[in-house]
Amino acid sequence: MKLENFKGVVTGGASGMGRHFSLALVQAGAHVAAADVNEEGLASLAEEARDLPGKLITFKTDVSNEADVIGLVGGAWEAFGGLNGLVNNAGITRDGLLVKTDRETGLVKGMPLKQWQQVLDVNLTGAFLCTRELVQRVVEKKAGPAVIVNISSISRYGNMGQGNYTAAKAALAADTEVWAKELARYGIRVGCVAPGFTETPMTAAMKPEMLEMMKKSIPLGRAASPGEQFMGVKFIIECDFFTGRTIDIDGGMRL
Ligand code: NAP
Repeated sequence: MKLENFKGVVTGGASGMGRHFSLALVQAGAHVAAADVNEEGLASLAEEARDLPGKLITFKTDVSNEADVIGLVGGAWEAFGGLNGLVNNAGITRDGLLVKTDRETGLVKGMPLKQWQQVLDVNLTGAFLCTRELVQRVVEKKAGPAVIVNISSISRYGNMGQGNYTAAKAALAADTEVWAKELARYGIRVGCVAPGFTETPMTAAMKPEMLEMMKKSIPLGRAASPGEQFMGVKFIIECDFFTGRTIDIDGGMRL
């Protein structure tokens, strides 16, 4: 699919990588419905995209909320006269060990269920809901070809302190393969990008000493830019023979 023909939803579009992906797609002439919980970020994104060649509309959406996602996909479908793309990018981290011993009291505390569930809800269930809603419409209307890009993470290989995030991101890469097999007959491709450490507000929130330690463990010695991650997204959209696989863009880092 040519980038300029992409008419799709980008979740988590208000910030970081999702914001970059949305602007790069609109710059290429695509139609993008940017969805996010961050209304302020969406408003400034719409402003930034106003004079670009394509079209950008915004939807305040919590991807883990079924009614929100039904409204998003229905609304974007109507606004663009159909959809042929989706980038499942919205994600959060709520890091913590499975169990932790308090140094002072010696008490052993487990990860609260809420901390586990929130990450699964946004990173995995959110992608499931968006994909299901888009695919249902494409299949019903026989509207293929279409392309879905999931954003996983190299944490999918198992990152200490991220049991919840690793579970969600590994499952997303696994479902990329399942959905690709199930949906090929409808002309729908599904690919996945697993970014390594990338400069965004998500990583800017990390402690400086942690950031330095991370960078040292990357063979290329630095974090990626959102533009370098977009190269993976672009490849998946454009290469009509690519489906079911995950591309690690990680500077050579192994966890
Ligand atoms: P980011 O800057 O934090 O952007 C994520 C956006 O998603 C934010 O605008 C966030 O809003 C929004 N969001 C959070 N929960 C949402 C929900 N329930 N529904 C809709 N939107 C929601 O993150 P990023 O670094 O660009 O990450 C983008 C994706 O790449 C994520 O899936 C992340 O897991 C993945 N990733 C990132 C890195 C990295 O190094 N940055 C590495 C590997 C994978 P709020 O700001 O209000 O929460």
